[in-house]
Amino acid sequence: MIRPTSLKRRNAAVLESSWSDGFTSCILLSDLRDACPCAYCTGEEIMGQQVFVGIKTFAPGMNELASLVPVGNYGVQAAWNDGHDSGIYTWEMLRTVFESKKLTAATIAEIDQQFPKG
Ligand SMILES: [Zn+2]
Repeated sequence: MIRPTSLKRRNAAVLESSWSDGFTSCILLSDLRDACPCAYCTGEEIMGQQVFVGIKTFAPGMNELASLVPVGNYGVQAAWNDGHDSGIYTWEMLRTVFESKKLTAATIAEIDQQFPKG
């Protein structure tokens, strides 16, 4: 199974990853939050209709990652500074986000100037 070998915050805005097959990618934490797979964020299908139980509005801290906690050996649970922590990302989901939202080196350099490392 392809899984991350390293997953760490590069700075306040960027998450950095390395994978067991050699793939590396950085994404915006806001893109990770947007991809939150929990029922609250994705909406639930009720009687064949997609119903959004959560209204996507900006909340302070919502794109600030508080923690990433491993869940079994299949994924991680993300906790955000607005208190949201019900999203569990499987390695497969995570890989999809890192592939589709991968930042270019130029964008990373720009962000690095705005956010000091740490
Ligand atoms: Zn969610």
